[in-house]
Amino acid sequence: MSSLFKSRLKHGYQAIKSVEQAKINERYRGFPKILTDITSEELMRKLVSICPTEAINNNPLSIDLGKCIFCGACEDFIEDSPIKFTNNHKIFAFNREQLIVTSEIDQDYFKRLKPNIEIEKLFKRSFKIRNVSAGGCNGCELELSASFNVNFDAARFGIDIVASPRHADAMVITGPITKNMQIATLRTWEAMAEPKVCILFGSCAISGGIFHQSNELAREILSNFNTLLYIPGCPVHPLTFIAAVKRLIGWGDDEP
Ligand code: SF4
Ligand code: SF4
Repeated sequence: MSSLFKSRLKHGYQAIKSVEQAKINERYRGFPKILTDITSEELMRKLVSICPTEAINNNPLSIDLGKCIFCGACEDFIEDSPIKFTNNHKIFAFNREQLIVTSEIDQDYFKRLKPNIEIEKLFKRSFKIRNVSAGGCNGCELELSASFNVNFDAARFGIDIVASPRHADAMVITGPITKNMQIATLRTWEAMAEPKVCILFGSCAISGGIFHQSNELAREILSNFNTLLYIPGCPVHPLTFIAAVKRLIGWGDDEP
């Protein structure tokens, strides 16, 4: 017994004390800053053509974070690129259009976005999640799972994973939604009690991501769901997920 206590003392407090103040590695690619939208036609053509997921558009230059897989090609392999990724990981939106970044959007843009007020009232102290892994690479599932480990500890905000859709308030979709997962995804949603919300976790879930041209997707089923949160990433960082859900359910920047 005493060795157990000693071992616990040695480990100390494992969780990140403040998820709001936590620093992310400088090399992490988060919010992409577009320095200027005035670029030559040649440069614009190079930017658009290097992007593997058609996330970059011209006139004006913009990046759709719902499509971006944060590969960095548009910054690293284009000379004089006007795109510079920052390590700001707090990027998430409450509708699809809010994920389009232009040169006019600053780092605090995502902080200013407001969720649906009714959701805050309903779920602030208890928000149960059921994950549907809908055909991705498993990267997003791993990071979603990591959000609940001793380090990130999303449960301190009342956010938790449940085994059955019957107990869930939210369905979190990871992966591009393959035809094989179409029925399972629809049945999960139908099994959940009202009120319920859908969260799209990662570029695959939001737009199809790297698989967006596949004929094996059934993305049309998304119109059946009450999607209230879009979290970009490939994969999504656990701190991004926690910050996004905290904002959705009304914690804002508060800590427990
Ligand atoms: S970082 Fe995003 S926008 Fe840039 S090339 Fe990769 S996928 Fe496209
Ligand atoms: S968004 Fe990226 S990490 Fe997540 S499932 Fe798709 S390919 Fe994998």
